[in-house]
Amino acid sequence: MSLTYNPARLILMKCSVCSGNAVAYNKAKQPVCGKHTRTIGKAPLCPECGIAMAPRLGKYGNFWGCAAYPSCDGIRKM
Ligand SMILES: [Zn+2]
Ligand SMILES: [Zn+2]
Repeated sequence: MSLTYNPARLILMKCSVCSGNAVAYNKAKQPVCGKHTRTIGKAPLCPECGIAMAPRLGKYGNFWGCAAYPSCDGIRKM
């Protein structure tokens, strides 16, 4: 996992999952909106950039996709 720290994400305070207004940080110190404080707690971390991943539905079923997609295309199997 990359340990690259991107302060721009924190300054903008956008939810790591939906890009809405973040109101808090989760345990992984990622900004999240009220709706996603729980969702993100269960999500694995992106192997590419280290932020929480979001559940996605693809051709071959469910998988975890990086919440920063399309700027990051990290994925994990569920
Ligand atoms: Zn959100
Ligand atoms: Zn990523």
